[in-house]
Amino acid sequence: MKLLEEYIRQKGVVKEGNVLKVDSFLNHQMDVQLFAEMGREWKRLFADVPINKILTIEASGIGIACVAAQAFQVPVVFAKKAQSINIDGEVYAAKVQSFTHKRVYDVIVSRKFLSPEDHILVIDDFLANGCAVNGLLDIIEESGATLEGVGIAVEKGFQEGGKLLRERGVRLESLAIVDAMDAKTGALTFRR
Ligand code: 5GP
Repeated sequence: MKLLEEYIRQKGVVKEGNVLKVDSFLNHQMDVQLFAEMGREWKRLFADVPINKILTIEASGIGIACVAAQAFQVPVVFAKKAQSINIDGEVYAAKVQSFTHKRVYDVIVSRKFLSPEDHILVIDDFLANGCAVNGLLDIIEESGATLEGVGIAVEKGFQEGGKLLRERGVRLESLAIVDAMDAKTGALTFRR
């Protein structure tokens, strides 16, 4: 998506450790007009599938998912980072290795909000190694819901998450794919 690529080129900052900072428009200060364009683009890309719910993960996926949900006219459920796993069976749970914080945490979704009747679009801000998305896919599988696809704002194509999801046959639509980035020069290469 050209507009998102322009934002990344103009406002993104490439950091050491394969981190792209986009906090001026995507995941700290949020450009809601850009989010609306992104939501419309996912709606166009997933027009042929019967999505009735969007699933994302706390925290930075929530804003993007909520605006996308207006384009789809469906509710959003977000997986919560849990302090301790509730073992009374009221939640679906998965473990996620955090790319930015380098630790493993549990995420949970109440059983009330996902069921076998649901057709889910997963939305997140970044795809790096795929841990966050894989945690959400585990939860969807446990619930018996149908995964219709995954929508990502920025995929880092030089990390393996996207490749692994596509190999599994997951329908993945990343609005910008960064194939290379250099922290020293700030140079970015997008996939065509
Ligand atoms: P993964 O689980 O695919 O390895 O990483 C995805 C998660 O880590 C996203 O939810 C996002 O919050 C965070 N993340 C991964 N790479 C980056 C990055 O380059 N920049 C920022 N800002 N967040 C990232």
